[in-house]
Amino acid sequence: DEVNPQAVDETELAIEGALRPTSLAEFIGQPKVRGQLQLLLDAARIQERPADHILLAGPPGLGKTTLAMIVAHESGRPLRLSSGPAIQHAGDLAALLSSLQPGEVLFIDEIHRMARSAEEMLYLAMEDFRIDIMVGKGAGATSIPLDLAPFTLVGATTRSGMLPNPLRDRFGFTAHLEYYDPAELERVVERSAIVLGVELSARARAEIARRSRGTPRIANRLLRRVRDYLLVHGGAGTDVAAVGAALELYDVDPIGLDRLDRAVLDILIRRFGGGPVGLGTLSVTVGEEADTIESVVEPYLVRIGLMGRTPRGRVATPEAYAHLGVAPAHATGT
Ligand code: ADP
Repeated sequence: DEVNPQAVDETELAIEGALRPTSLAEFIGQPKVRGQLQLLLDAARIQERPADHILLAGPPGLGKTTLAMIVAHESGRPLRLSSGPAIQHAGDLAALLSSLQPGEVLFIDEIHRMARSAEEMLYLAMEDFRIDIMVGKGAGATSIPLDLAPFTLVGATTRSGMLPNPLRDRFGFTAHLEYYDPAELERVVERSAIVLGVELSARARAEIARRSRGTPRIANRLLRRVRDYLLVHGGAGTDVAAVGAALELYDVDPIGLDRLDRAVLDILIRRFGGGPVGLGTLSVTVGEEADTIESVVEPYLVRIGLMGRTPRGRVATPEAYAHLGVAPAHATGT
């Protein structure tokens, strides 16, 4: 039988769902954010009101959607999922907001991509649980106020700098999610391995963690590829060797960089002598959207010290030359 790609997709999604922790206690790492959220939820519970609006900022795969689900779960309230790109008109948002149950948690992923016209409606909704609906056009246009059920907005963004200040200011609290350290990722892998029924040595788990780019989603994905490898190649060799072989097959290098990370560094070094290079030039040369480079590739390369940002553009550090095995002849030393 042919494999139906739709079915494959759903399986992957279902697995991602099964791997999600459902309580703050089960959520690994981010101790600061967990403490902050716990206080916010406890206070709301004591006063029997919906929790304040929450903004979750950080690169993809660090647990923003998971935390939104936990907020709903821990406060015993229903959850509605939406996303910025799905809200292209104020009307889309009006329909969504007016259909919320009292106390419902509304999650808007990629909230920085919402339409401008919807943003203004959201200010009022967040502040007063009210919107104004415009009826008619031109001189005869009027606005009709509509009361909403109180709700908690959980917004997620990979680009908190792109949110207009009035929107950012209306969140009671902004959580900045950080990349996970290897010990935390080992715990993610350990937990997921149990859920998936994969037996791995501590060394194999550590090896997966080390190559997961500080990101639980990547740790879970690599674990699934290692599971595949062990399934097919069985007990031949140690599981640490299996991790190495599986990840090499999928172009994940020993420090966890993927093809795009390496392509960016490679172009920065070989094409532009180490920089500085502007984001636009870099994105055109690599053939990838500037947004992806800025919100996915760069934060990690900067964090592990392979890339620097200067007012004149991006630069490769001496460590990046060493990692790619290029002599730093043209290193800028910045
Ligand atoms: P985001 O919304 O930030 O892109 P998700 O919440 O979808 O990220 O998380 C991606 C995957 O990583 C999910 O499968 C989730 O279970 C897992 N995950 C994220 N954060 C954690 C965590 N702190 N502990 C355990 N698993 C996590």
